[in-house]
Amino acid sequence: MRSIYLDYAATTPTDMSVIEKMMPYMSEKFGNPLSFHSRGQEAQKAIEKARRDIALIIGADPGEIIFTSGGTESNNFAIKGIAYQNKNRGDHIITSSIEHHAVLRTCRFLEGQGFRVTYLPVDRHGIVDPDLLKKAITDKTILISVMHANNEIGTIEPVEEIGKIATERGICFHTDAVQTFGHIPGNVDKLGVDILSASAHKFYGPKGAGFIYIRKGTEVTSFMHGGEQERGRRASTHNVPGIIGTGKAAVIARDLMGEETAKLTRLRDRLIEGISNSIENSELNGHPSLRLSNNVNISVQSAGGESMLLNLDLEGISCSTGSACSSSALEPSHVLLALGQSRKKAAESVRFSLGRSTEERDIDTVLDILPGIVRRIRSAAGCSR
Ligand SMILES: *Cc1c(COP(=O)(O)O)cnc(C)c1O
Repeated sequence: MRSIYLDYAATTPTDMSVIEKMMPYMSEKFGNPLSFHSRGQEAQKAIEKARRDIALIIGADPGEIIFTSGGTESNNFAIKGIAYQNKNRGDHIITSSIEHHAVLRTCRFLEGQGFRVTYLPVDRHGIVDPDLLKKAITDKTILISVMHANNEIGTIEPVEEIGKIATERGICFHTDAVQTFGHIPGNVDKLGVDILSASAHKFYGPKGAGFIYIRKGTEVTSFMHGGEQERGRRASTHNVPGIIGTGKAAVIARDLMGEETAKLTRLRDRLIEGISNSIENSELNGHPSLRLSNNVNISVQSAGGESMLLNLDLEGISCSTGSACSSSALEPSHVLLALGQSRKKAAESVRFSLGRSTEERDIDTVLDILPGIVRRIRSAAGCSR
């Protein structure tokens, strides 16, 4: 049985050539980039090369890139950093109700610290309405944080429009681009963002590595205090292999982007159409066209997401219900609830996220197997549909 991995939105395998590039920085090139000797300078040079490569991809200056431990840290850095930096100017943050927990729970934490947060609703496809955003802005608003694309339903948000509003009003705009960096183009000027978060393990780089882009002139309070790394903005000895891997993975992702998007879009649409043709009362979650090329999130009436996931797993197919973080708890996905779905419906969904190794035959295997699984679950539940 060929095992079929369709959970690339949760994490991706590290590309072999990324691993090869990282390896020497764990052995012979192990120097600390802050050391003045040549071993240290060798590592220092390599991280500056990774920084330039990444900056070029998003249209930034190298000095605007700070390496972090990934998406969660970058989101915490952005939101807490802007909140504390501007606490004398204002106390209001605007975000959306479908953000990743790394944003939502950071905002909740700040509410406990005296900040006020507006969680914008989304329409039934998961789109944030820029007009509602405009109306939510007050003279105390210090930050707008809206994700580039949603990790559960794949909806791509109108970030450029939001960026224009933020720029007009002089409000800092952060976007969680963890699902889009390396997958769709994201020039920071075109998007109109001041801060952007990305994570290497979502684009075939190593886990525990990523970066944050902070526009020149945007002051952000640091919360990692210690050494002089990253010009004092993020202390802690550099994760040199991780940084090298992040840079290499970013370059590969940029080079493959066009071809990969075309392939994944075709496979995605084949899976969506196949499921809709073979499973009655199933429905695509998220936006029909403004969606990531690798995301298929489906609600299947009277078939629990957990049951579908476990049965697919027995057949060697890995997928997810909602997000990986919420699937350990039996809480329905906050994203599906925000689309206006009932708790029951929100618990009846699976997410397939496709990636670099996905082939047509994998999609066909899912289409062979899933209808039978759904039939068995429905009949076990005494439902004949
Ligand atoms: C995975 C993910 C994160 C968290 O990134 P880590 O590097 O795993 O901490 C944040 N936001 C989104 C949208 C994600 O998909």
